[in-house]
Amino acid sequence: MDKGIFINNEWADHGLEKIEVRNPATGEIVGTVPKGGKKETKSAIDAAHDAFPSWSALNAYDRAAYLEKLYDLMVKHEDELAELMTSEMGKPLKESKGEVQYAASFVKWYAEEGKRVYGRTIPPSKDNKRMQVIKQPVGVVGAITPWNFPAAMITRKMAPALAAGCTFVVKPPKETPLTAVRLVELCEEAGFPKGVVNLVSGKSSEIGDELLTNPKVRKITFTGSTEIGKTLMEKASGQVKNLSLELGGHAPIVVLDDADIPYAAKQTVASKFRNGGQTCICGNRVYVQEKVYDEFIKHVVAETEKLKVGNGFEDGTDIGPMINKDAYEKVGKHVENAVNQGAKCVTGGKGHEAENGTYFYEPTVIIDVQPSMLIMNEETFGPVAPIQKVKTDEEAIKYANMTPFGLASYVFSENYSRGMKVVEALDYGIVGWNDGLPSAAQAPFGGMKQSGLGREGGLEGLEAYLETKYISIGMK
Ligand code: NAP
Repeated sequence: MDKGIFINNEWADHGLEKIEVRNPATGEIVGTVPKGGKKETKSAIDAAHDAFPSWSALNAYDRAAYLEKLYDLMVKHEDELAELMTSEMGKPLKESKGEVQYAASFVKWYAEEGKRVYGRTIPPSKDNKRMQVIKQPVGVVGAITPWNFPAAMITRKMAPALAAGCTFVVKPPKETPLTAVRLVELCEEAGFPKGVVNLVSGKSSEIGDELLTNPKVRKITFTGSTEIGKTLMEKASGQVKNLSLELGGHAPIVVLDDADIPYAAKQTVASKFRNGGQTCICGNRVYVQEKVYDEFIKHVVAETEKLKVGNGFEDGTDIGPMINKDAYEKVGKHVENAVNQGAKCVTGGKGHEAENGTYFYEPTVIIDVQPSMLIMNEETFGPVAPIQKVKTDEEAIKYANMTPFGLASYVFSENYSRGMKVVEALDYGIVGWNDGLPSAAQAPFGGMKQSGLGREGGLEGLEAYLETKYISIGMK
């Protein structure tokens, strides 16, 4: 039996058609999962709905104990989870290990934070009244996750949802469902009661539609593209469904002329090329002040040329394959468009498409980029760093804010006053100031504008799974 559908603590493939999962570095089939649809999703929702009263009635310490067990199992199986992730997603093994640790950190942190869901009392304005506010879990949660972080995008939702007392149905992406299956197996081993965690692999629009239209689901949490996020938002309006959206980004990196340039270059390369540039908070476009433009480019090129492209299982690989043909073609299109309009490619700039259906793209730096070029306006999701020269701080801020996205942004400056003014002016949910890697379980992660609604991680990430109930008590 192929695993991919887990309902009421039972695996079943229901004799369904299969989805083949391929290693994007070799083209080999590394596993299959059943192609579930409406029927399986409905059963999973029913199971989660039935489990909700008893799970939400457990005290926070007992719920935390299950999450602690899951955390221990994730740590114990770190290497195995990382290898599975590299085999289906392609990221270098060292990055997969980093992701497993990051994914586990949400489980650990929310096991603790679930014990701190506080209400409050409000001073009444009448002698014969008492006023209280309590927090309660929203109910059954439907989660839809992307392929670029196959484990962390699940635990960033599942851990706070379970800690809050919600039950959970997750739909993993077709490219990376195997990591999701293994995570859910670990939930099974941790002993979560029946129906608390459910998994349905399969047809995205059918599963999505059932999650969005079934009244038993009280909250939808989605991470993925802005395009699909908008579709879900429209459909969620039918039942005014509680919605959290973590969508696309187009992160600017601003390098002021008082920055520590070698350090800024290293951090830019770390931010830009992590996961082969296939990260929603990857720096996507760089604005550098003219006084330090040449020096910054020299350092960025030197750092970029150290990166090795290859199979994520090979020692020393820094950049794995592109996830698929569409992703690869988009990167090529962005580079071509920039070069055709006068930008210069100073390192990289070539792709490699093999007969076995695998796609690699060299880490690339393009300079003398102009604001109208495609790459400065669309999320590239690949290993290309376009650099534009700017004069003033104000000009850098204007260009940085020119997109409809508002997820992550970065500024490099050694001057507190200048740096802080830029930080405050950036229309982004996350700002890394002299920091190219800002994500952490205890911090709120999410975007402004078309990058989404709500936050994951930190206190805000738990709040997303809680309802606020105000109680007004009359005294006789
Ligand atoms: P995607 O194409 O939007 O897919 C995301 C998920 O949505 C997948 O599970 C996909 O399932 C599912 N899906 C697709 N069509 C659907 C529909 N009609 N109804 C319901 N579900 C549907 O995004 P992706 O290519 O996987 O991920 C890359 C994008 O995610 C980028 O834009 C990136 O910036 C963004 N991202 C954002 C964050 C953040 O925290 N803000 C984090 C990571 C990634 P199938 O794959 O099975 O079709």
